Formats: sequence, structure tokens, C-alpha cells
Amino acid sequence: MIIDDVLKANEKFTEEFEGEKLGHLPKKKLAILTCMDTRLVGFLEPALGIGRGDANIIKNAGNTIVGEDAIRSIAAAIYSLGAEEVMVIGHTDCGMAHADEEKIRNKMIEKGIPEEEIDKINLKEWIGAIDDEESNVVKTVETIKNHPLISNEVPIHGLIINIENGKLKVLVDGR
Ligand SMILES: [Zn+2]
Repeated sequence: MIIDDVLKANEKFTEEFEGEKLGHLPKKKLAILTCMDTRLVGFLEPALGIGRGDANIIKNAGNTIVGEDAIRSIAAAIYSLGAEEVMVIGHTDCGMAHADEEKIRNKMIEKGIPEEEIDKINLKEWIGAIDDEESNVVKTVETIKNHPLISNEVPIHGLIINIENGKLKVLVDGR
């Protein structure tokens, strides 16, 4: 199983790790909401010039706001950890723009989820499927900005990163 490989890798890592002292506050006073896409791992950070200890990075499927959970984390970054700017960073070729509702539904049924449970939700909305990567970033920025518990004094920027070459494009300039 994958867990075996992970535990083995961790043993090797901790043997070699020199250790460094870092605080839990984001050094760059920045919070980022981005996608959980595997290709952003170890790619988004260097493309933004940020390293370990610099920013609070919140990830979910498609950098969307469904319910309150992403908002809660952004609020924690601002009010508890001192983040002064927020960036929503989408990416090109997002899997959530290709999410096939029927396929997800069938997979859930195959995995033993009762159909009546699936029928209780709007599956497309619940899973955070998006129509278009750029308009999704703009929509997410608007949702954060308009949230009654997020201060207007905090700039919310919207950007999209090219998953091929790491180039950033600003969609919403929060300055
Ligand atoms: Zn994505």
C-alpha cells in the first residue's frame, strides 16, 4: 500500500533532516487559496517566490468556496495568524473544469454510497465542479470579498497560473 512507501520515505527523510526553527505565523503575511492539483505540488511555491514558513496555503478541489470551510481558513489566516493579503490562485487545465457529474455519481454508487444520499445534494455544486478556470477565480474572489466576516481592508487578489510554464496572470488586482 501507499502508506508503506510513505512511512519508509519518512524514515529516510527524518534521518537526513537537519531541522530548522520556524514560527507558525506566515512570514510574508500572505494567505493563498489554490487547487489541490498534484502538478501544483512543489511548483506553485517556487513560481511565487515563497518557501517554507512564508504563507498559509489553503487547498481544495478547484479553489472554490463551497460552504464555509475555505472561508474559515482564510479568516483564521487573517485574524489569528496575521495574513494581510489574500490570493486566489487557479490554474489552467483544472480537473474540476472537466469533472463529469455522471461519472462521479456512478463511482459513488459503485463504492457503496446509497443513491438517496447522493440525491440529497446538488452533486455538481457540492463537489465544486467549475465551468471555466478564469471565471471561477473571479467568482471565488467575489465570494470572499462579499463575505460579511472578511474585512474590506484586506486586499483579495485573483490570479491564474499556467500549469505548463508557471506564468502567472492577474485576473483581479486587489490593490
Ligand atoms: Zn485544479
